[in-house]
Amino acid sequence: MHRHRHSHVLQLDIQGTPQAWISLEQAATRVAAGSVAWVGGDGPLATLRGGFNARRGRQSVLDVHPIIALHGKPRVNLFGVVPALARHKLLRRDRHTCAYCGQRFAEQDLQCEHILPASRGGPWSWMNLVCACGPCNGRKADRTPEEAGMPLLYLPYVPSRWEDFLLEGRTIRADVHEWLAARLPKGSRLC
Ligand SMILES: [Zn+2]
Repeated sequence: MHRHRHSHVLQLDIQGTPQAWISLEQAATRVAAGSVAWVGGDGPLATLRGGFNARRGRQSVLDVHPIIALHGKPRVNLFGVVPALARHKLLRRDRHTCAYCGQRFAEQDLQCEHILPASRGGPWSWMNLVCACGPCNGRKADRTPEEAGMPLLYLPYVPSRWEDFLLEGRTIRADVHEWLAARLPKGSRLC
């Protein structure tokens, strides 16, 4: 039980659209409440032992799976939902690869680079940011890639909801990763 402390369960709506990463304890509550319609993944994340049921003469057991879909109406409107932008998600989207020199770097050696410089009105957005190493970012300075003669080696894009959950999850089990990856749009760099 203790080693699962940091595990996260992917909560879906009944149609399989990701809703949230929840804790094992939150997931167990939903299982116990009978809110789970179906589960996914290769097997239980944890088996929790509950109280002793005198009538049935045995202890209750709750299997908590790494993917749980809840009963009820789907709540998310998929259209027009732009995933919140965060540095660690951007770096993952771009596979820790500098958009200008194409080399991979550790997280601390990468920066979020404005394609159209912020000083010229370039927004902090999925479509105007790529990750870049310090030297490339410094060399490009307050110029566009065209002006700097530094073409982008890959293009920015807005992640889909499924992709966003992959980007967000800090420690994702292989089977959950596979489940999300199977639902990524064509052309995603996370495939
Ligand atoms: Zn670089």
